Amino acid sequence: MFVLDEAVQQREAALPSLLGRERQRELVALAWHLRQRAPARAASLVAEARSQLHLLDEPGRTLADARCLLVEGEAVWLSGALDAARAVADQAFFAFDAAHDPIGRADARWLRAWIEMDRGCAALCDAELALASEDARAAGDTLRTDVFDAAAALFAVFRDLRTAQERWDARFAVDLDGLHPAAAGWIHDYLGTSAFQASDFGSAVSLLMRTYEAAVATGQVRRAINVATNIGNGFTSLNAHHAALEWMQRGLDLARPTGWPMSIGLALMQTAETLRQLGQRDAALDLLREALATLQPLSGSRAYAIALEYKGDLMLDRGDYEAALRNFTKLVERGEALRQSDFQSGARRGKAHALSMLNRPQEALEAALDALAMARQHGDAYNQIAALKVLAQIHAQHALPLPAGVAAPSAALHYLQEALAVAGTIEGYTVPGDLLDAVAHEHAHLGDYKRAYEVALEAGAARDKTHSREATNRAVAMQVQYQTERARTEGEHHRQLAAAEAQRAEVLAQTSATLEHLSAIGQEITTHLDAAAVFRALDRHVHGLLDATHFSIFLLEGDGQSLRCAFGIEAGKALPPTRFSIDDEHANSSRAVRERREILIELSADQATPALIPGTLQTLSLLFAPLTVGDRVLGVMTVQSLHPHAYGARERLIFRTLCAYGAIALDNAAAYRQVAATLKTLSATQAQLLDKNLELEDANKKLEEVSLTDQLTGLRNRRFFLQHVDADVNMSLRRYDDPLRMGESSAPGRDLVFFMVDIDHFKEVNDTHGHGAGDAVLVQMQERLREVFRDSDYVIRWGGEEFLVLARATHRDEAKVVAERIRSAVAGRAFVLPDGTEVYKTCSIGFACFPFLPTHPRMLSWSQVVELADQGLYLAKRSGRNAWAAVYATAESRTEGLFDYLMHHLEDALAEGEARLVTSLEKVELPKGAKKRRLGLN
Ligand code: GH3
Ligand code: MG
Ligand code: MG
Repeated sequence: MFVLDEAVQQREAALPSLLGRERQRELVALAWHLRQRAPARAASLVAEARSQLHLLDEPGRTLADARCLLVEGEAVWLSGALDAARAVADQAFFAFDAAHDPIGRADARWLRAWIEMDRGCAALCDAELALASEDARAAGDTLRTDVFDAAAALFAVFRDLRTAQERWDARFAVDLDGLHPAAAGWIHDYLGTSAFQASDFGSAVSLLMRTYEAAVATGQVRRAINVATNIGNGFTSLNAHHAALEWMQRGLDLARPTGWPMSIGLALMQTAETLRQLGQRDAALDLLREALATLQPLSGSRAYAIALEYKGDLMLDRGDYEAALRNFTKLVERGEALRQSDFQSGARRGKAHALSMLNRPQEALEAALDALAMARQHGDAYNQIAALKVLAQIHAQHALPLPAGVAAPSAALHYLQEALAVAGTIEGYTVPGDLLDAVAHEHAHLGDYKRAYEVALEAGAARDKTHSREATNRAVAMQVQYQTERARTEGEHHRQLAAAEAQRAEVLAQTSATLEHLSAIGQEITTHLDAAAVFRALDRHVHGLLDATHFSIFLLEGDGQSLRCAFGIEAGKALPPTRFSIDDEHANSSRAVRERREILIELSADQATPALIPGTLQTLSLLFAPLTVGDRVLGVMTVQSLHPHAYGARERLIFRTLCAYGAIALDNAAAYRQVAATLKTLSATQAQLLDKNLELEDANKKLEEVSLTDQLTGLRNRRFFLQHVDADVNMSLRRYDDPLRMGESSAPGRDLVFFMVDIDHFKEVNDTHGHGAGDAVLVQMQERLREVFRDSDYVIRWGGEEFLVLARATHRDEAKVVAERIRSAVAGRAFVLPDGTEVYKTCSIGFACFPFLPTHPRMLSWSQVVELADQGLYLAKRSGRNAWAAVYATAESRTEGLFDYLMHHLEDALAEGEARLVTSLEKVELPKGAKKRRLGLN
């Protein structure tokens, strides 16, 4: 995962002498270790590795490719294009998962965790880390386990220090010197950050310096930058500004050449805060604006929230209290969304300050007391001091009643003395001049001039110490060095880079989405048994994918001499019967068949369509392609559009692919059972086609790997289900056939249960909270289904918000318990949306058992059983939702025509005891008469 620089140098030195597979393997490994050290070099190594993947055997090839994806995904993440990065990380994850590689899976999860962290989705981040750690532990990889756990612990600290310590301190009470430097570095990070949050800045700084060294030595550049600025921040908190600026400088120097918005933004804003504390307000504001602009794509992140806090403080310093109030109010929201407690106190303290200055003392007082209580609760001395200072200020500024339990001659003095007392608990802390000034001022106000004078002298001494000449000089130098103009141009450049990266990844994702779609279509088309169904399926998908006013298929007649229109639709109407001679000079269809090539005709609005079929429209874009299987031509397919230039390269590729699927489907309609042979031909044809476009071929390989998995939820998809269900059905039937097993209750269950689960009113989530929120619910739905079912059961994303679960080797009588568990797992807990909102959703469930009638196991096919499960779902929906329902056979069930009877006359069947309902519903609304349901199966 991480190696020391020497190891990388050795690899670099060895590379030129390697050839073939060895070089191939080394390219990938080296790219991986250079991913942050030298991203550009890593990218070029990946490009070379990609071009040579064919040298490797499976599963090595898949794994190498997935590792390359991880390297790329990391670059996209660092560039700040989080959605795009997530898509790449997911692709890598599914590839590793399909190849059963736990380490790869863990690394992909690690990347996902960071992406989610930068998005501000702490819960998703934690979940990824926990699973990554599980995988690493199972694989016996202690370095990874330590790193993942330490990172999880570190993030837990931001949420709540004490809880984090209870959970993690014992885990890391080990001899850190015996560990890999990267692991020790991460654990030091956790310990240092804990110390930081407890305001023990001295210890924090020394622990974090060890983290910094480890990060630098192991190529974790982003971590190194982050930690350098945190160390600087630690010094700032101690009012040791000179040392602070030295570390900020180090962070900035590392960050500038990377172009990574998070790193640059962090370094800029921490520097700005130090400058602010040194009184360099204009310079601080310039840097902070730049930091916020750089961090804009990461506005959900913790870093962005911290920048808001700094900006609020700066606005307070500048006397712009309205702006300060806005910033702190935003920060309260961000803190809540991030569920990180350390902003909460600072945000309220800042609000209180601004409100007091805006002459709203009562609100100010409430906010300040809240801030103090929160800081106390989290043992955060630094924010306690800040809150106490503001409380003193509010009381000094407004005539407010003396709070209960205040002993000092004034409330202001009371709070200031308390602040000084807390300051005394922080080791190495220099009490800042302004706090002492305030104390002096308050003594003077109360008439104690002697004490006032003494404290004022202390204040002067403190200021001399903190605002040393060196610190001030360095601040001025930095201000010059990072003039805003330059910073801004660079920032602009980086934003453009990030945008270009995002666009590239989007194109990639789009291409692979199209290919996935096409592959699913191919699967569907080629399952049809008769030509008419193939035509209909083609027609549907042609219109889904292409602009086609006209779509027709001409097939070669038996004599091979003429083409007959077998299917044709134009603007929704069937074409007149048409036939062309194969020798027809003018017919484009005949030409495409004769010349065995694709023909594209593009006309402008004033040109007439050549060889127009009488009674059809004047189309401006016409695309013809022969339908071929191997070297046989079956006919020709055409799409035509009223728009000029409707068919670009992408459309033609889609069309070609549809032609390939269509040809195979038509050719094999009669002999569908040889699925294997068909798929082989299919992939050969597909390969031929894709040969023409190397990039797409590459994408298609990735597609193959993920084609059994649903991208959003990681669940298996329909295609996977269709590939496996027959084997399970046969297994169940064999167990029923085997007389020795009959009545043997301890044998593994012989039944299959199909559960159809559909989220209730799911559209509302999309409509109210956006599509992203809907996606998040689907992902969490997947987790809940996995909780309920065994690993060996098939949990399938059937479509949209509908899931099919096949519980295997089970007993039919247990099904209702399982159904209830699904229902309550969904309804019982809130789903958490990406913005932190919680929503409660319910689901409806229908199920049915296979064999449906145990005495006649072959009477109903599995697909009929799925339809009955679907009928159960329909009953549950119709009768109020948040419920489950199933139709079971009985001893009275007829043994002929049962399926149709149940589907169309369920009420009668129930009344006559030929079926019984098993349901959580008290009252079931039965369908009247024949029930019509859409069904995904053919
Ligand atoms: P019902 O209780 O009757 O099932 O109502 P419903 O709103 O759940 O069902 P409906 O079929 O009317 O709507 C399903 C919605 O699911 C429509 C579609 O936009 C949405 N959907 C389908 N797939 C996805 C997806 O992958 N992500 C998101 N966010 N929404 C999806
Ligand atoms: Mg629904
Ligand atoms: Mg639905």
